[in-house]
This record gives sequence, structure tokens and C-alpha cells, in this order.
Amino acid sequence: MPLDTTSYALPVARTVADLRTQVAQWRKADETIAMVPTMGALHEGHLSLIDVGRQNGATKTIVSIFVNPTQFGPGEDFEAYPRTEPQDAKKLGNLADLIFAPNGAEMYPEGYATTVSVKGVTNTLEGEARPTHFDGVATVVAKLLLACGPDLAVFGEKDYQQLLTIRRMVTDLAIPVKIVGAPILREEDGLAMSSRNVYLTEAERTAAGQLNLILKATADAISNGAAIETACTSAQQKLLDLGFAQVDYLTVRDTVSLAPIAKLDREARILVAAKIGKPRLLDNMPVHLRG
Ligand code: AMP
Repeated sequence: MPLDTTSYALPVARTVADLRTQVAQWRKADETIAMVPTMGALHEGHLSLIDVGRQNGATKTIVSIFVNPTQFGPGEDFEAYPRTEPQDAKKLGNLADLIFAPNGAEMYPEGYATTVSVKGVTNTLEGEARPTHFDGVATVVAKLLLACGPDLAVFGEKDYQQLLTIRRMVTDLAIPVKIVGAPILREEDGLAMSSRNVYLTEAERTAAGQLNLILKATADAISNGAAIETACTSAQQKLLDLGFAQVDYLTVRDTVSLAPIAKLDREARILVAAKIGKPRLLDNMPVHLRG
């Protein structure tokens, strides 16, 4: 199948073979290729990853759009996940050079039986809340990287544990790609941009805007000497008082291992997952060691 160059402002590859043909041409021309894996429903946060790729030397950018079934658990929103390819392509306009949008059978052919499973960093937080999630993520990202063979791949710190998982996988499997982490892009009130924010009602959206402020205040308090456990417990209560239905975790962790930290004796990360209305919102930020 040739590349689809007529549907949108930028070409679309639907098969691994087409993707590889395009990448091979760019390689001959000495281009530096970035891959930005997404599930579509693109917002400015996704688009910012393209910029980060360019700042890291990319001259060509491939954005993959694939709603990956294996990273959704039973009862999660795989079916309902927003699928907006034409709008996504419009947003990508001339920011990217190619969309890779395979279908399910291209990524998971008949008889598919291989899973990439990263241990350690996935045992906690999202891994506890969503036990099959990171196997799905690691598997699809390994496949995307092997299909494309980019020089670099960009992932958002929005999904901080995912970024650490992918770094671990790429190191362990010696996949020849540089993994670049990109900062969280936020709405005006600080809410981390997310494709799932569209599920929020107006009242929930207002409350959701407090999540980042509470997280920041807690991170600052801890940097200034507040006890970690007390500060986190009080922040969780504030979220429940605001109308969050459930706080899965609000916790301070080691920036690389994600091991719990009782006392701030190194740079750390505060991470939260909390449910309000339909979505589970994720956010995280650094907790700086002062002095
Ligand atoms: P998703 O489509 O949700 O799988 O996200 C695709 C990529 O975009 C992942 O690397 C995410 O971490 C990243 N991403 C999602 N939201 C944001 C955001 N608000 N700021 C920066 N990166 C983001």
C-alpha cells in the first residue's frame, strides 16, 4: 500500500512496511528522526512533544496514533476513548512530517503471543491501580520503536511512571534510541492537559483545576521542612473535600526508582492519581531539596 498523501496535509502510513520505506528514505538523506507515540485526541500537550523533539535535534517527526487495546484494563474506556483522526491530522498540519496510524491487526497480528514486561518501577502506583497497564504500554512502545527505528522518541512527564518504564525497557533491551522526557503542558488554571479532560462536567472541571495547586503547595511545604506523610494526608483530604471521589495515591517518591521517601534527603517527585467524575486525573511535579 503506498503512503496516503491525499487525505490530510501530511502523509499517513498505515503499515509497518510503509513506515519503514519512508524512514529509509529519510535515513539516506541524513535526517534525524523523532517519534512521538500517542493515542490521538491530540491537544497542545501532545504538540509540545514535537517541539521538544526538534529542540533535541530532530529534522523529521513521526507522530503515531494508535489507541492501544492492551494497555486498557477490563472496564476501562478503550471503546469510549476519543478517536479523532481527521482533527488530529489538522492539528499536526505541518508541525509533523508523517502520521503512523496502524490498525489493530497491523500491531497485533493473528496469533500474537509476545509481551514485554518491565518489573521494578511498574510494581507501584499506576501498576497497582492498573495491573496490566504497563505490560501493554511497554509492548506497544517496543513495537513502535522497532517498527520505526527513530533516533529519538519523546514522552511526556505527564505520565511520569510510563517515562521511567520506557527508559528502563530501552536500556534493558538495548533499543538504539534516545528517550527524551518533555515537561507537562497545562491549561491556564494549571490542570495538566489530557485527552480525558473532555469527560469532566463544568463543576468537575473547576474542582480539577485545584489539583495542581494543592500538589504544588504540598511540594513547597515539604521542601520547606513539612513532614511528608502529614503533608500528603492533608492534601488527600483537601481533594476529597473538593469533591474528588477517590484518591488512589498522593505520594512523594524517589525520582528514578519511585521508592517511597519518608524524609526529604534527595530531590524527589510528588505524584497523584485521583478520580473525579469519570476520569482519573494524573499529575506530578518535582519536590526540590532546599539548602
Ligand atoms: P497519550 O495520547 O495520552 O498516550 O499521550 C501521548 C504522549 O503525550 C505521552 O508521552 C504523554 O505523556 C504525553 N502527554 C499527554 N499529556 C501531556 C501534557 N499535558 N503535557 C505533555 N505531554 C503530555
